[in-house]
Amino acid sequence: MKILIATTNNNKVKELQAILPPSIKGEKVEYLTLKDFPDFKAPEETGRTLKENAVLKALAAARFADIPALADDTGLEVDALRGAPGVKSARYAGPDNDADENNRKLLAALDGLFLGQRTAKFKTVACYAAPSGETVTTEGEVDGFIGFGYRGENGFGYDPLFIVKGTGKTLAEMTEKEKNGISHRKLAFEKILTAALG
Ligand code: IMP
Repeated sequence: MKILIATTNNNKVKELQAILPPSIKGEKVEYLTLKDFPDFKAPEETGRTLKENAVLKALAAARFADIPALADDTGLEVDALRGAPGVKSARYAGPDNDADENNRKLLAALDGLFLGQRTAKFKTVACYAAPSGETVTTEGEVDGFIGFGYRGENGFGYDPLFIVKGTGKTLAEMTEKEKNGISHRKLAFEKILTAALG
């Protein structure tokens, strides 16, 4: 069975290759990536919710490649900012997905707040789409806090600011294996193939 990992974010591709199972119902899965489909143009993320964006990304890829595709949309929801940046996490500081600018803007927005006021969660909606148009979605969440500055060198995006509840570590201070053992993306994707294919 072939399944396309339909994300243009290479960090996500790497995480998903470590998270997704090598076989489903005894059948080996060959995971392809968008490198196998160089003519594919990723759709604009015009959805109003993480779910809408995850579905539109997975569906566009499945239809283009004519094989089932997996995609996700992830948002960081900060309680003190009433759930922002949320679905706009990639473009929080402007139209480009510049992690450093996003992180600086977030630190500035929380300036003066103590740790207990900096609660946040990462939310991932994963989508499996078949070329026929059938879609299945699952969700994963991780609770934590936004730290007071950058900590750690691993991961990507908001990872250096996100302290995982109960660990004292940011996602960027975790090894790949540690992050993939507890992350929002892991919790969403570990269920997706069973939910979609039984
Ligand atoms: P998207 O799901 O690719 O739209 O990501 C939304 C934003 O959240 C981007 O700025 C990503 O860099 C960031 N992001 C997505 N997943 C993670 C993660 O696992 N850790 C940290 N930041 C993430």
